[in-house]
Amino acid sequence: MKKCIFISGGVCSSLGKGIAASSLGALLECRGLAVCMIKCDPYINVDAGTMSPYQHGEVYVTDDGAETDLDLGNYARFTHSPLSHANSITTGQVYASVIGKERRGDYLGRCVQVIPHITDEIKERILAPLKEDTDIVIVEIGGTVGDIESIPFFEAARQLIHDFGRHNALSVHLTLVPEVAGKELKTKPTQHSVKMMQELGIQPDILICRAPIMLDSDTRRKIANFTNVDVEAVFTSYNVDSTIYALPLIFYEQKLDQIVLKKLCVESRHADLLSWKTVNERFNARKGSVTVGVIGKYMELRDSYQSVFEALFHAGLEVGVDVDLLRINSTSLEEQKPEALLEQVDGILIPGGFGQRGIEGMIIAAAWAREHAIPYFGICLGMHIMVIEWARHILGWNDANSTEFNTNTTHPVISLLEEQVNIENYGGTMRLGRSESIATEKTHIAHAYKTAHIFERHRHRYEFSNQYQHIMKESGLICSAFTPDGALVEAIELPHNPWAVGVQFHPEFKSKPMSAAPLFRDFIAAIKNNTQEKAIPFAP
Ligand code: GLN
Repeated sequence: MKKCIFISGGVCSSLGKGIAASSLGALLECRGLAVCMIKCDPYINVDAGTMSPYQHGEVYVTDDGAETDLDLGNYARFTHSPLSHANSITTGQVYASVIGKERRGDYLGRCVQVIPHITDEIKERILAPLKEDTDIVIVEIGGTVGDIESIPFFEAARQLIHDFGRHNALSVHLTLVPEVAGKELKTKPTQHSVKMMQELGIQPDILICRAPIMLDSDTRRKIANFTNVDVEAVFTSYNVDSTIYALPLIFYEQKLDQIVLKKLCVESRHADLLSWKTVNERFNARKGSVTVGVIGKYMELRDSYQSVFEALFHAGLEVGVDVDLLRINSTSLEEQKPEALLEQVDGILIPGGFGQRGIEGMIIAAAWAREHAIPYFGICLGMHIMVIEWARHILGWNDANSTEFNTNTTHPVISLLEEQVNIENYGGTMRLGRSESIATEKTHIAHAYKTAHIFERHRHRYEFSNQYQHIMKESGLICSAFTPDGALVEAIELPHNPWAVGVQFHPEFKSKPMSAAPLFRDFIAAIKNNTQEKAIPFAP
């Protein structure tokens, strides 16, 4: 019998519901169970693809090319849950599907309503990604209880908990226990939040209280008394000053997974925590630090490049250094001398992005990396910038550009496929999801992956313009990976630099705390080597 866990949140957003759900999934996997993680997003957008990173943070891309909520990235980093378009459910998708059925006449003239038609559609979609071997499905409901738009999701959860039965389904509710004047922890917001759950017909079985410190037993008992939750099922997610990857162990120490299994009537089994312990040991064993300047457009919001930042952190764990991030808004490089900001960095990373703003600042940063021979990593847009910079400053084509930013450029070194000649078999729309690239021998990229066959995910429209391939290569630029048919350039590298690689795909999506994405690992290793070499005093 499959088991089902719903994770909801109360009081306010940003309590770390995604990380808590992921940590629980990780712990259940440590006990040998196969989990399937699902995110329900109550917004009306069909997917996150069209949302501004300012509004919603990073768009996480799955192998099958779904543009999803960033929490799927957390699921991918913490668990082995299969993740595809089916693991991300939005109100937009649900309504689009129900309205489509209504138009086709599938409802045979009946009045189509939120209950049962919308809720049935949600229930079907929650059950759809479950595989034969799935033991436990963990469904995170986005937003907070009480939000108008999340009501159908809570109603679907209530019905599914009933359908699965008391011993096969659980409600885990995450709430805030704030500290108010004089270090007193306040339980009232939690009481209210659970009451709202109860009004919707869901009695939480487990509470995870987000608090600055570990809750004492009196506070836990008080919360338990007011909420009908067993005291042993009141847990604390306290502020962690080390890493979010400490959370699975913190929950394990509090016996969260044991209580979950007990309530779900799953026999207790050995927990193999080795990989999480190793991650935390590596964290503590790091020596020294390197500073990476990440130059992008949406820097005010950490979430906008979440997978990139996580992958840099994973690389630091693997290489054994603390990776300090200097997050630089590229427009600021257009307004002041680059030295002020770039002199402090040991390496430069330019991540993905869309639109014209800040592009010139990124080109300044890429020129800085090339001229100062410091490691450079360009991802998607960051690769485009590398090509434009080379074309302008090495080939002397002053107005070289991507047609994304200037359609009238005399040297469109990056362009849409339909603008290129002799390219067949590639559609004019976004290249999305997993595809193969073949690495050229004896390149940084081949070294990183230790194989010529690379499988990574794409999300872009513009490409390296093939008409310039020959002249770029002649001038020294290295094309280091191609699509299997050889038609498109997938990666480039700079000569005369310890490590400067630009890739058309997004390796950050597959990085994990226990196995950093190979290119991120080698980028940080190159920075470490480079800074150590620089530190060796010059001996005449
Ligand atoms: N804007 C560029 C494109 O559409 C790059 C996209 C990206 O960086 N993900 O091709």
